[in-house]
Amino acid sequence: MWQSADVKPDGRSRVLRVDPTSALCYYHAVQTPQHPWLFPVVAALFGAVFGSFLNVVIHRLPAGESLAFPGSHCPRCGAPIRARDNIPVLGWIALGGRCRDCREPIAVRYPLVELANALLWAALALRFGFGFPFFAFAAYCSALLAITLIDVDHWIIPDAITLPGTVAGLVASLFLPPRGSLLADLLHRRLGLDRLPGFLASPGFWDSLAALLIGGGFFYLVAVLSRGGMGGGDIKLTAMMGAFLGLRDLGVAVFIGLLAGSAVGIALMIAGRKTRKDLIPFGPFLALGGVCAVFWGRPLVEWYLNLRGY
Ligand SMILES: [Zn+2]
Repeated sequence: MWQSADVKPDGRSRVLRVDPTSALCYYHAVQTPQHPWLFPVVAALFGAVFGSFLNVVIHRLPAGESLAFPGSHCPRCGAPIRARDNIPVLGWIALGGRCRDCREPIAVRYPLVELANALLWAALALRFGFGFPFFAFAAYCSALLAITLIDVDHWIIPDAITLPGTVAGLVASLFLPPRGSLLADLLHRRLGLDRLPGFLASPGFWDSLAALLIGGGFFYLVAVLSRGGMGGGDIKLTAMMGAFLGLRDLGVAVFIGLLAGSAVGIALMIAGRKTRKDLIPFGPFLALGGVCAVFWGRPLVEWYLNLRGY
């Protein structure tokens, strides 16, 4: 019955009759042009729920605690959070930002993380529509959000996120549509990699591998030359971003990260809050660049090339 979708010449499908028992009817429904907001709204709702899980990751992963047990509880009185109070964002608002039992204030950061993740997933839904790229980059952006707050709190970027993330990015690169990395495409054809068997022929895979090695290698060099100005966590974070983004967009991400990091560093020095010798964690700036590159990597590069008259 799922064959009932009518494929128009532009490749988008229109639902004629849908079998409500078919899992695919969801797929067709969210692709239907009559409901362009349906999938972004659904993505925002799931994003808020996943943001609630990210709060657990942010607070328990650096401490080495279990992510599953015990359930959410008030850090002061230990009372378990009731299911109805655990609704993302709304639960916090309904409680007036305080524990129901002991009235201890609950940090506004919890609902803000949920809101941020909801907005990220909604934006990705608008950018990609329903399909594999949405899910790959939703995982990627949520990982970057968790890394940002863990780095701000503890000055560490956990390997438990970046190492599996790098592997996930490499695997995802086999299924993502071509990203149009000119350099990677050129190398791919020049070196005859397109004649390799199986997944080794995928240009996306080599693009990701090159970005991972070049990006990670670049910050490894910076770390060696600056004698500790750049941490091992930043190197592995760059490698993970490269695996997901490929060469071109990783370049954009690192450029934005360096720009934003320098701007904030200089602003803090002018404000007298930091001196040249103080360090600020670089992970949040890299992560910011890593998210921006998903949305604006290609237009930014095209704008730059136009500017230079290419
Ligand atoms: Zn309490």
